[in-house]
Amino acid sequence: MTPRIVRTLDELRSVTSAWRLAKQTHALVPTMGALHEGHLALVRLARQHAKRVVVSIFVNPAQFGPAEDLARYPRDEAGDAAKLATVDCDLIWLPDAAEMYPPGFATRIVPEGAARGLETDFRPEFFAGVATVCCKLFTQVAPMAAIFGEKDYQQLCVVRQLVRDLNLPLDIIGAPTIREPDGLAMSSRNRYLTPQERLIAPVLHRQLTQAATSIEAGHRMSIACARARDALGKAGFRVDYLTLRDATTLAPIDNLTGQPLRLLATAWLDKTRLIDNIAVLPPQCT
Ligand code: AMP
Repeated sequence: MTPRIVRTLDELRSVTSAWRLAKQTHALVPTMGALHEGHLALVRLARQHAKRVVVSIFVNPAQFGPAEDLARYPRDEAGDAAKLATVDCDLIWLPDAAEMYPPGFATRIVPEGAARGLETDFRPEFFAGVATVCCKLFTQVAPMAAIFGEKDYQQLCVVRQLVRDLNLPLDIIGAPTIREPDGLAMSSRNRYLTPQERLIAPVLHRQLTQAATSIEAGHRMSIACARARDALGKAGFRVDYLTLRDATTLAPIDNLTGQPLRLLATAWLDKTRLIDNIAVLPPQCT
C-alpha cells in the first residue's frame, strides 16, 4: 500500500488525532530520505512496537555546516515513497524547510554530555541541529516511540539523553546497523563513492572489527586503536577519529572496569565521510 504523504502540520495533526481517537498507537522513524535497506529495517522494527508507523523525511539544514553537502545531499521523493510502500508505512511526514522553520524561528536546543567531542569536534553545530529538529519532530508527530539506528551511535546517545533530560513522553529504540555483504554500513552517502573508493570503503568496518577483537583479547586499547588508524591511513582514508568510549555516556575510557564499550570511527575517502562503530565486550567477559 502506498503511504499517504503529508506536507503541512495541519494535515499531519488531523491524521494522528484520528489514530489517537481510534486508540491506535504510532511510532516515528526520522530520516533524511534517500532511503536504503537500513532505513527500511527501522520501519519494520517500528511496526513491531506500534499499530501505525510514520516516517519523516526532512533534510535538516540546521545540522549541516557551511562547507558540508546540504545542496548535493541526495533527494528522491518518488523512490522513497515506492520503497516505503513495500514495508507497511502508514504516513510520510514531508515538511519543507519553511514549514519546519517558519520566519521568526529562533529557538535552539544545545545538548552537552554525550554530544561533547567525537562528531562535535569536527561538526560543532551538528548536534544542536539534530536535537532541535528531533524535539520538533517528537512534538509534531507525538509518537509513543521513535526508532534510531546504531549506525549513528553518538546521535542515538544524544537523542536518548535529550528525551530523558526534557522528560519527553516517548521511548527511544535503537536498531542494529544494516551492512552490505562486504561489511560496509549502508548509508545514503555511499552513493558519493567512486567505484575505486567503494572497494576500499569496507576496510573501515574490517579495522573496527580487528581492533575490537584485539581489545576483547586483552591487548592495550591505545595500541589497538593506533594500529587501526594506521591501517586506515595506509588504505587511503583520512581519519577524523577512531576511539574507544563508554557505550552509555560516551565518556573517554581511563580504566577498563567491565563497563560496556563502543569503538567509534569517522574517516574520509577523498570527499566522502564514512561513519561507523562497533560494540566491544569488556575484556574480562571474554
Ligand atoms: P539518515 O537518513 O541518514 O539521517 O538516517 C535516518 C536514520 O536511519 C538514523 O536513525 C540512522 O541511524 C538510521 N540508519 C542509517 N543508516 C543505517 C543503517 N545502515 N543501519 C541502521 N540504521 C541506519
